[in-house]
Amino acid sequence: MRVERIALSGFRNYDEETVSFEPAVNVICGPNAQGKTNLLEAVYLLTGAHSFRTRFDRELIGFDCGWASVLADVESAGRSQTVRLLFQKGQRRQVTVNSVKKTSAALAGVMTAVLFSPDDLFLIKEGAAARRRLMDNAICQLRPGYAALLADYNKLYESKTRILKDWREKPDLLDALDEFSDGLARCSARMIRYRASFAERLASAAAPIHRDFSGGKEDLFLSYKTVSTVTDPRAPAEEIYQQVAAHQAAHRKAELEAGQCLTGIHKDDLEIALNGAPARNYASQGQARTAALSIKLAEREICKAETGEYPVLLLDDVLSELDSARQEFVLNRIGGGQTLITCCEDEDISRRTGGRVFTVKEGRIR
Ligand code: ATP
Ligand code: MG
Repeated sequence: MRVERIALSGFRNYDEETVSFEPAVNVICGPNAQGKTNLLEAVYLLTGAHSFRTRFDRELIGFDCGWASVLADVESAGRSQTVRLLFQKGQRRQVTVNSVKKTSAALAGVMTAVLFSPDDLFLIKEGAAARRRLMDNAICQLRPGYAALLADYNKLYESKTRILKDWREKPDLLDALDEFSDGLARCSARMIRYRASFAERLASAAAPIHRDFSGGKEDLFLSYKTVSTVTDPRAPAEEIYQQVAAHQAAHRKAELEAGQCLTGIHKDDLEIALNGAPARNYASQGQARTAALSIKLAEREICKAETGEYPVLLLDDVLSELDSARQEFVLNRIGGGQTLITCCEDEDISRRTGGRVFTVKEGRIR
């Protein structure tokens, strides 16, 4: 999997710029605020997952522009395809692959990428939202059906939340409450199966990487936690649906009183333990960083197992945050696929990786 060429128009601080990448390591360097992360963001958008920086497409459009486009030639399984994303103010984004209109979710399978940014180093210590995002972003890229479910879930969740918030002023709203709850339970049942299966694969891929990384001293365990009434998250969807619905029914009164959704998979977590102790409470900073790295590298391996090719690896500013042993561990594992690394100082990293250097200055790439 690789991005051969990308052309940006009116995208963030890029006016018009085109760049062709090497199949192996590309080092994207330059001082702060020049457009390095913006370039990685454009590449990440090709996966169909949304931006890793914003929920709002309008922020991707250059300040003085009415629209933005990202056009890229992407090679996968020996086949080159042209992906175009068009963002226009006040309109839905348009996606085409080889000039044929597609949904964002249909980009799964066309392009896969694993992103690693300094925020990911806090994956272990942060709240569950960061770990849910990790699962969702990875599964969306591998399973187009999941992206559609996630979008449906979010819409239903927003509608239900609005009813719970406003029903006292507008009691008629309550007529639709049970319908939205039922829709959520149906979506949840299918999403729980996807998440459980992904978590299981991530757990078995991350454990050996982490053991290696910690010099054989630490065992890393990951386990998926969902709605408490679900006894087996890999059970048939109908069985999970019944269990989620039962949990919702038991919380209906409390949700009306609280004015918010108290139960559902928007509270799921991926629990992480090191040598048997919950990492969120007990891991040291260094242990937490190492575990986060192992999980991200495991995500890359799952993508490879699934598609037969390594996903494009996007390392945003992450090396400067790591000590030399951890840098070495990461750099020794990035072979076999295309990597884009951003940094402020190019020389050391390009020497250590043999990568080609691109210099970014004020939205221009040299
Ligand atoms: P750092 O080393 O600090 O991480 P960077 O090179 O990664 O810097 P970017 O995050 O890519 O910097 O941002 C480059 C510039 O793009 C910033 O000055 C930012 O304000 C600007 N920018 C962001 N969004 C837009 C937009 N929609 N239109 C124009 N400029 C934008
Ligand atoms: Mg940056």
